[in-house]
Parts: sequence; structure tokens; C-alpha cells
Amino acid sequence: MTEIPVQIRPDESITDTTGSGLLRQPYTYRRPEIVEPDWTRFPGWKDVTATEWESVQWQRSHCVKNIKQLRELMGDLLDERFYADLEQDQTTLATMSMLIPPQMINTIAPKTDPAGPGSLTEAWYTDPVRRYMIPVASDRRTTWTSHPYSSRDSLHEHDMWVAEGLTHRYPTKVLAELLPTCPQYCGHCTRMDLVGNSTPVIDKLKFTLKPVDRFGAMISYLKRSPEVRDVVVSGGDVANLPWPRLEDFVSRVLDVDNIRDIRLATKALMGLPQHWLSDDVVTGMGRLATKAHERGVQIAIHTHVNAAQQITPLVAKATQAMLDSGIRDVRNQGVLMRGVNDSVDGLLDLCFAVLDGAGIMPYYFYMCDMIPNAEHWRLALWEAQKLQHGIMGYLPGFATPRIVCDVPFVGKRWVHQVSEYDRERGISYWTKNYRTGIELADADAVNRTYEYYDPIYTLPEAGQQWWRQHG
Ligand code: SF4
Repeated sequence: MTEIPVQIRPDESITDTTGSGLLRQPYTYRRPEIVEPDWTRFPGWKDVTATEWESVQWQRSHCVKNIKQLRELMGDLLDERFYADLEQDQTTLATMSMLIPPQMINTIAPKTDPAGPGSLTEAWYTDPVRRYMIPVASDRRTTWTSHPYSSRDSLHEHDMWVAEGLTHRYPTKVLAELLPTCPQYCGHCTRMDLVGNSTPVIDKLKFTLKPVDRFGAMISYLKRSPEVRDVVVSGGDVANLPWPRLEDFVSRVLDVDNIRDIRLATKALMGLPQHWLSDDVVTGMGRLATKAHERGVQIAIHTHVNAAQQITPLVAKATQAMLDSGIRDVRNQGVLMRGVNDSVDGLLDLCFAVLDGAGIMPYYFYMCDMIPNAEHWRLALWEAQKLQHGIMGYLPGFATPRIVCDVPFVGKRWVHQVSEYDRERGISYWTKNYRTGIELADADAVNRTYEYYDPIYTLPEAGQQWWRQHG
């Protein structure tokens, strides 16, 4: 196994700046101040009231779905080159269509005040939220844009469906994809195969069964699978399922005796907190929490925040409303991405923002998966290991997230669990201690190693040359 030198931070960050002889810590904690940025700074929302802003109907009906709507919102605050860059991405590279609620757009470049034509262009280009929610062509790599082993369903979830949309990958837990839509579409979405509208480069997979039949088949599988104790109810994003249908499904899962944990996956807790503050959702979640409590089952919400600036008072309020409803916890599963949160400071700022600012538990950071056109976001394994090392010791142990690599056919592995690592070719080798749903008759599944790949452009020249010949 190649030796991995571990560095904490560049030396200049810990030099004595006070003259006292004491060195600064590599990371300096400051209690996060969370603010709702002023949405009236955008020309298209200059007259929008707080009541409108806090209305979920207003938010849903003012989502930005295309370049024309972005122009109407931003006016001339963005240069033409930005729109051209975005259009090129949309037509030739994007694996996700555009959909962003106002709440989330408002967290892009929140500290840069507009000062005339083009004045937000640079701030938008460099902003972490823009980089993953509104990717432009110039963000992406021109060589090795996709890894040769990237694929649409990079985790092979579809291969492991035991009912349409129900993935049984780990021995005791399943993933139920209830719907293929979200209130927001993230450029890096790992389920780009299924989720969202088709784009010029990706024709999306479609569910074939009616929701009522799909949900029925999922419940039926849970009832006949006593080894399953944990259901991740996901999508898409469960915030796009009409509340009565989500409540009915979760209630039916609660009726299955073997189920002990239910996790509801919703990025919208951050992207559209207005949904989780709606009366019907808050009271309905209270009913589910009561039923879960009576049956000794834990319900948690898992959300997806990738940058500290996305935590605002409305996100904190929605989180508190969910915790007050009686559920067990709200946890964050972010995605580690270059240019978004690939620094120790960025990750710790984000963790403290979710923890102190909103009462959300930092839980995981996933390495960005090997989907097409994602190489510019992905980090090498050794970079993820350095980041994991760098964030240790600042957060409480129970709130220190693990950085994990979701290895195809294996599942989540902590980045330091790698068995072997060829740094020159960027190939890491992983083992596992269980069989996935498609390997129950495979005696070697727990004996072989499984491969994961670093982005090729991060490799030394000899490694890149090897891929030119073999990729
Ligand atoms: S919210 Fe989740 S499922 Fe929806 S587009 Fe984003 S990453 Fe994909």
C-alpha cells in the first residue's frame, strides 16, 4: 500500500501573528451567525414581501427553471458571458435540468451587493452554491471530463431493486425511492439516471408502475423480509410527494413490525424550508412521530447541505419545527466537492453552521460519485483522507462527520478503510463484510476486492499516461 503523507494545514496558517509566542490553531472556531440574505437585491424580487417569501406556494411558483427565468430575475447583474457559459453547459454537458427555489438562489454570493451591470458575475462564478446548483461549461474539465468508469447509475442501485424503486444493498436496510423529482436539482446528483427531467445529453429512466402499485410492492417486500430493520425513504426528495401520500406510506412502514428506523431524505429542508414549515406538514409529522414513539421506532430527517451559507434562520426554524414534532434527529449528509467545500475551513464552517446554527447533526460527507461529466467536482481519495484528518478534534465526537466513499457494489466505506491504494494510477481497492442483494449466491463476494478511481487529472504523469493507453 502506498504511504500517504498526512498534512494538517499549510504552515503559514499556524504562525504566530500575535507576537505572544503562542501559535494559532489551524482552525479558529467562531460561533456562526446565520442570516437570511436580502432577496430584494435581485431585480426580479425587489418587491417581494416577507409573507410571500415565507409562502411555500410562492417559492414553488417562482423557482428558476431555465436561463430565460434567470435573466428575468438577475437582469443585467450577470454578464452575457455567464449566460452563454450556462447555455453551453445546459445543451452539451448537464446531466440535470435546472430547478432552483428562490430560497436557494438567495444563498448564492450572499455578501456581494449588486453595483450595476455585470457586478455579480465574478461572485457568481466563484460561489460554492452556484458551482454545484448552476454549473456552467467552463467549470467542467475539458480533458477527462468523465472518468472512463463513470456511469449513469454509478452505485448500481437499479441492479439491486427488489421492487421497482426499492434498493436492497446492505443486509439490514433498504432505500425506497418514492418519486423521481425534487424541489431542486443539484448538478452533481448521484441519481442523475432517474431523477429530474431529461436533458439534451441524458434521457432519464422512468418508473413503469403507478405509485400506488410501487408503494404496495415496497411494503409487501418489507413485510416478507424480517432481516430489514431500517428504511431510507427517499427519491428524489420526499418534499415533492404530496404530504398525505408520504404520511400514508411512512405510516404503513411503521406498521411493519421489523422496522426500527426510518429516515426521510430531503434536501428541501434547506432548499425549501417553507415546505417543512407548512401547517399540514408540521402537524402530520407530529402524528407520525407519535405513532413511531408508541412503537419504539426512530424517525429522522436526513438533509443535504454542502455550504455553510445555505443555513439561514428559515432553515433553522424548519429544523426546529421538525425536532419539536417529536422525531429523533435531523442529520446532514453533504457531498464533498472541489470548489464547493474541499477545505478544512469550509467543512468545519459548514459543520458548525448546521450544528450551532440549526441544530442539525453533521453525519456524513460523501465523496462525489463517478457519474458522467463530474470529474471537476470529484476529489482523489488521498485528498478526502487529508480532509478527514483535518476536521478531527474540533467538533464533538458525536457530531464529527465521516467522509465516506460509496464504492460500487460495496457501499459506504470510511475513506481510511481502503485496503490498498495505487496512487500512481489512482486506483483504490476495497473489501466488504456482507453480500449485497444481488450476491446472495456469490461465495466470493466477501473475499474479493472492489475498485474505486481517483480523477485522472489528479494523477502523476505516469498514471495519466497509463490511462491514456488503457482508459
Ligand atoms: S436533492 Fe438529492 S436527489 Fe434531488 S437532485 Fe439533489 S442530490 Fe439529487
